[in-house]
Amino acid sequence: MYAARGRLDTLLIEKGATGGQVLLTDWVDNYPGFHDGITGFELMDKMTAHVDRFGLEKKFAAVTAMDLQGEQKVITLESGEELTAQSVIISTGAKPRKLDVPGEEELQGRGVSYCATCDAPFYRDQEIAVVGGGNTAVQEALHLTKFASKVTVIHRRDSLRATAILQEKAFAEEKINFIWDAQVSEIVGNDEGVESLNIQHNDGSTSNLPVTGIFVLIGVVPNNEMLPMEQLETDEGGFVFTDHEMCTKLPGVYAAGDIRSKNSRQIINAAGEGATAELSAEHYLSNLAVD
Ligand code: NAP
Repeated sequence: MYAARGRLDTLLIEKGATGGQVLLTDWVDNYPGFHDGITGFELMDKMTAHVDRFGLEKKFAAVTAMDLQGEQKVITLESGEELTAQSVIISTGAKPRKLDVPGEEELQGRGVSYCATCDAPFYRDQEIAVVGGGNTAVQEALHLTKFASKVTVIHRRDSLRATAILQEKAFAEEKINFIWDAQVSEIVGNDEGVESLNIQHNDGSTSNLPVTGIFVLIGVVPNNEMLPMEQLETDEGGFVFTDHEMCTKLPGVYAAGDIRSKNSRQIINAAGEGATAELSAEHYLSNLAVD
C-alpha cells in the first residue's frame, strides 16, 4: 500500500492467496479499527482491496531463489523467469511447526491438522485434541468448540503462554479440558484416520487419549527456503535479523513480518513493519537516484 501510494514501480510476488497466515485465523479481535472483531479472511480481503485501490501490481508465482547482494537484486521464479529489482522487501512469513512424532506425516489431512479455521467443520460432534499453549492453540481451541463435542488441550508445561483474556475464555469453556505437563509421543491411526494419541507425561507415566482429530498449534518456523541464507544474517531458528528500520545487512534489502527475528508476531506488528520497510526502501531508492 505504501509503495503503491508512493508510485514506486512495485511488484508483489505471492505464491498462494494474498493474506498469509491470517487466512488461517478464525477470528481477529485485536486489530485496530475493527472493534467488534473480524474474521481473518475478511480482514485480509479488505487489505487486498485496499492495495488494489492504489493499483499495486501482483504476480502469483513461487520464488525459488534470490540473489540480493548486488545493486540489481535477482529473483528467480519456479518457471525459471528472472526478475530484477533495485530493492526487495522480504515478507515471506512463517508456517506451522510440526510435532515430528510417528504418525504425524502419514495422517496429515486425515485427522492431523495445522489449521483449525480450515478443518474445524470436519469434526462436528467429535472428540479432538489441540497441542500447544500459545495464543494460536488457545484461540483455535475456542473456535473448535463450535464444532467438536470435546476439545482436549495438551500442553508441555503447567501454565499457558496465551494472553490472559484467551486463558479466561478457555478456562470458562465447558467443552475444553486440559492435559498439563505432557507431550504427544505418537499419533495412532489407520487408513480411515486418527484413532488416538499416545501421551508421554513429564512424571514419566504414559497414557492413551482416543480422539479423531489432532490440531498441532505449537508455533511457527520461517518460510526461508527461497532466501539466500548465506547472504543474510539470521538467528538460530532461521528468522532474518533487521535493525529497527527493517534494514537487513544487505543494502536495499528489508524484511517485515513473521520472517523477522523478533518476539511478537502480531498482525499489527507486521503491518507497521511493512510500512517502515517501505519507507526505508523509498529512502534508499531516492539516494540511489541522487548518486
Ligand atoms: P508460540 O507463542 O510460540 O507458542 C507455541 C506454544 O507451543 C507454546 O506454548 C510452546 O510451549 C508450545 N510448543 C512449542 N514447541 C512445542 C513442541 N515441540 N511440543 C509441544 N509444545 C510445543 O506460537 P503461536 O501460539 O503459534 O503464536 C505464534 C505468534 O503469533 C505469537 O507471537 C503469538 O502471540 C501470535 N499470535 C497472536 C494471536 C493474538 O494476538 N490473538 C493469535 C495467534 C497468534 P511453551 O509455552 O512451553 O514454550
